[in-house]
Amino acid sequence: MTTLAILTAAGSGTRLGRDLPKALVDLDGFPLVVHAARRLAASGVVDSLVVTCPPGLATTLRDVVAQDPHVDVPVRVVEGGGTRQASVAAGLALAEPDDDVVLVHDAARPLAPPQLVRRVADAVRAGHAAVVPGLPVTDTVKRVAPASAADAPGVERVVETPDRALLRAVQTPQGFDRALLERAHTEGAARASAEEAAATDDAGLVETLGEAAYVVAGEEAAMKITTERDLRVAALLLEEES
Ligand code: C5P
Repeated sequence: MTTLAILTAAGSGTRLGRDLPKALVDLDGFPLVVHAARRLAASGVVDSLVVTCPPGLATTLRDVVAQDPHVDVPVRVVEGGGTRQASVAAGLALAEPDDDVVLVHDAARPLAPPQLVRRVADAVRAGHAAVVPGLPVTDTVKRVAPASAADAPGVERVVETPDRALLRAVQTPQGFDRALLERAHTEGAARASAEEAAATDDAGLVETLGEAAYVVAGEEAAMKITTERDLRVAALLLEEES
């Protein structure tokens, strides 16, 4: 039985303000997607990789990922959809019959270390059908009500302060029993076309089915790149790594 990793790289990355997709933005001489693919391959638990790419960029993505000497697993590239959920579904459609475990990882988390990939995959192989890495939350988090005409502009009403000790900020890669992830995407497919409705992570789709998801320890290095400042922090983390 084999493990497929879907590496989502089809986003536009508009918040970075560059004129190229975020996955192709440079970090220490290599595109973010290459950093992410290298660490998936280095985990030793990934048998093949499917990379989702923005429309028209399949050849570019294939060239940069498949030709990297450190990405020593088979790589296929598929055009993603309009939302992350749609992109993951497009990648999942390429799963081979022997793939019984699927990891879903974001190119936007280029430094997620190989040991994190192994931790997630091992937990799935140990019988947990949906596994996400997560870190304790250091800020107190409040849930607010949707904007209301009763409140002044820019003011939001607090409805809940969850117990911080029970909150986790989740990361990728997330790992799944392949059949469960396929069922989650099939039953959640109606949400995939609109950004407001689409799932922001795959475990959320599984939870919607009423199935259990589990958290394993995350890693600071698996931070998500959204802004220029995040890129600078990632560069510092890389420096520490070497
Ligand atoms: O935009 P954001 O950083 O939340 O995207 C998370 C991940 O999902 C990124 O790696 C991005 O490339 C990917 N994505 C995708 N298809 C989309 C939107 C985002 O593969 N339509």
